[in-house]
Amino acid sequence: MPPIGVYIHFPFCKRKCHYCDFYSITNLKEIPDYINYLLKEIELRCQTLAEQSKIETNKIDTIFIGGGTPSLINPRYIEKIIATIDKYFDITSNAEITLECNPAASDAKHFPDYAALGINRISIGVQSFLDDELRFLQRLHSASEAIATIEAARKYFNNLSIDLIFGLPEQTFDNINKSLSQAIALDLPHISCYALIYEEGTPLFEDLLAGKVSPIADEESADYYLQISDFLRLRGYEHYEISNFARSGFRCRHNIKYWTCSDTLAFGASSVGMIAGSRYKNVSNVAKYFAFLGKGLRPEEYSEKLSSEERLTERVYLSLRYLGLKFEDFAAEFGVDLLAILCNEIEVLVASDFATFENKTLKLTPKGYYICDEITLRLLKKLEKANVQNIR
Ligand code: SF4
Repeated sequence: MPPIGVYIHFPFCKRKCHYCDFYSITNLKEIPDYINYLLKEIELRCQTLAEQSKIETNKIDTIFIGGGTPSLINPRYIEKIIATIDKYFDITSNAEITLECNPAASDAKHFPDYAALGINRISIGVQSFLDDELRFLQRLHSASEAIATIEAARKYFNNLSIDLIFGLPEQTFDNINKSLSQAIALDLPHISCYALIYEEGTPLFEDLLAGKVSPIADEESADYYLQISDFLRLRGYEHYEISNFARSGFRCRHNIKYWTCSDTLAFGASSVGMIAGSRYKNVSNVAKYFAFLGKGLRPEEYSEKLSSEERLTERVYLSLRYLGLKFEDFAAEFGVDLLAILCNEIEVLVASDFATFENKTLKLTPKGYYICDEITLRLLKKLEKANVQNIR
């Protein structure tokens, strides 16, 4: 069995950004208690897994500490977290260990400590290198602070990633070009670009309903997405997943585990893990998280064994985001000839330049990536209609 990945959620931020729907809170006083309960959860889950022999490997080759704002964690807590995981698992010598950082909450003095603890990848939430855009997004940092954080991190880490957001109201491609050019000038090996989403329940969504902001048109957003892809591919980045671009050798190994449906353990409020075909989600509420663990219970909102149909659906969706539908793999894993069922759809997708079809693999083009959800739905509908039986 291949090594598994570990995700740790740290749900604290100095201030909530108005577009963000990730689970995080701003009461930083809770951090020490949270770390204690997090360590309890790691112990509890790892002991249970060991007792139930649910994992056939004791190797871990990726750890991702995300949030929230994990760079608010004091390195001594990170040391405890890694040491607790290390008690139960063999963290491989080449493990990718990522920490997410926020330029407004990264104390550059901690970078050498993080590196000494084995963290070897830093993912920085830059979002834009233009101050006006950062103000719109209500980020707490300026463009120059973002640059300073990247330069400070570079002294200790060569595997650096940044997040950028595009599709802000009234944004022009010239503005996007400025942020991308700055990223290139900083020689970053990995860049994630996300479209601004007006998520229900966020203050930005309320602003949208109140007519205070106007989203850019869909065609414009699609156009920007394709221009971003062209821009970065021309400069040596692989567009290897819908939102992710990497120089050779710098794909995010942890996220690849999700896109290939590999086993991942998850710890922390609101985190989602998948082990041996069962998915669990922890409660998205720190008080409830404490209460569950205080009683010695796993802090789960739900835990479910996926049916064969659900696994197949998920594999289709995640494969399209990343390496494409490898029909021979599907036949071997599920005993289903998807190629025979989807041949008409494949023809249409290839003819419209939404996908390529080579070596029995349907792979989306950047144009296809942009409407990946729509394509997935269409393919899944066809599978539903075909009423595939005997899925393994
Ligand atoms: S810093 Fe990140 S996680 Fe925190 S509120 Fe802003 S976008 Fe969300």
